[in-house]
Amino acid sequence: NLKIGVVGLPNVGKSTFFNALTNASAAAENYPFCTIDPEESRVAVPDERFDWLCQHYKPAKEIPAYLTVIDIAGLVKGAASGAGLGNAFLSHIKAVDAIFHVVRAFDEADVIHVEGELDPVRDMEIIREELRLKDEEFLTKQATELHSAVRRVGNGGNAQDKAKKEEAATVQKVLDYVKEGKDVRHGTWTNKEIEVINGLHLITAKPVIYLANLSEKDFLRKKNKWLPKIKEWIDKNSAGDPMIPYSGAYEYRVSLAADAEEKAAIQKECNAPSVLPKIIVMGYAALNLIYYFTGGPDEVRAWTLRRNTKAPGAAGVIHSDFERGFIMAEVMKYDALKELGSEGAVKAAGKYMQKGKEYVVEDGDIIYFKFNV
Ligand code: GDP
Repeated sequence: NLKIGVVGLPNVGKSTFFNALTNASAAAENYPFCTIDPEESRVAVPDERFDWLCQHYKPAKEIPAYLTVIDIAGLVKGAASGAGLGNAFLSHIKAVDAIFHVVRAFDEADVIHVEGELDPVRDMEIIREELRLKDEEFLTKQATELHSAVRRVGNGGNAQDKAKKEEAATVQKVLDYVKEGKDVRHGTWTNKEIEVINGLHLITAKPVIYLANLSEKDFLRKKNKWLPKIKEWIDKNSAGDPMIPYSGAYEYRVSLAADAEEKAAIQKECNAPSVLPKIIVMGYAALNLIYYFTGGPDEVRAWTLRRNTKAPGAAGVIHSDFERGFIMAEVMKYDALKELGSEGAVKAAGKYMQKGKEYVVEDGDIIYFKFNV
């Protein structure tokens, strides 16, 4: 169950964003909602293919894909050296698979900023440095331990010792990189190095999406004096990481509306669609997840997979028996079903495919598995 964490300085709008997400998903009529704990929220991933399939099959049950979002409080300047809730924060952030980094770009005199004057670039700098320092500290410890293990082995050693030496070299290389002030996700690493890096659960290796929190006014007039500076900073220090401008205040207001109709009315009146769906979809994509669908009168459901999973593994997400007894996957492409209008028509057109165990499942496939019991 992959998770994305909301990170940022105090008073930048993390809770507001989190509450807007939670309200939005709680109110969506078709999507069952479940709160796991106050800091954790499961939000349905909006997908028009899923909506279409539900209209098509009119199932008794509809289960979309979900993104799990965690509100992670406690990051302040000096957190890496133990200020604030440094350690609780650390274990929470180690446990997530990607990060929403909320940056405050709204100027509101009555909302105090922990660092004094509003300055989103300084804030991004602080967060980035705290996270980097946490990785540096952790890697330094790892490197020290590995180096003494390697020293005990000396020049000889068996295959296991050789692997240790390689691991030590990789950890040292990553440590040197982090010490240069860089984030691990921006490095170029070999497959072997990536294996070691994956085992370390480094914070700066996690994908980041920047969320620039604007005042409602700036959001609606599509103008904010900080946005160009934020973009420039990301291009220079975090190249390739996406940034989405939004307004926590506006999203929260929309999320409080009584029903879908009223929500739509606010967005129409303001001529500003909610950005939450885009944020959820981008968050999901950052986790490198895809999903396939199963459809029928009982249930339309999205099943989450890591990208590049083969058919038996995909079947195993439904039930381990499906994987063990896998015979074949009968696959329809969403576009074919939508265009042709029924499973029968897809078959008649020769587009109902039978795939074996080497088939790599693609996002949006509609699959029926055949298996031995
Ligand atoms: P957190 O400490 O990062 O969780 O920040 P909060 O979500 O609690 O927000 C801190 C304060 O900023 C609250 O008083 C919010 O109402 C306010 N706030 C959050 N987002 C916005 C926004 O987009 N515009 C304005 N004007 N205020 C906001």
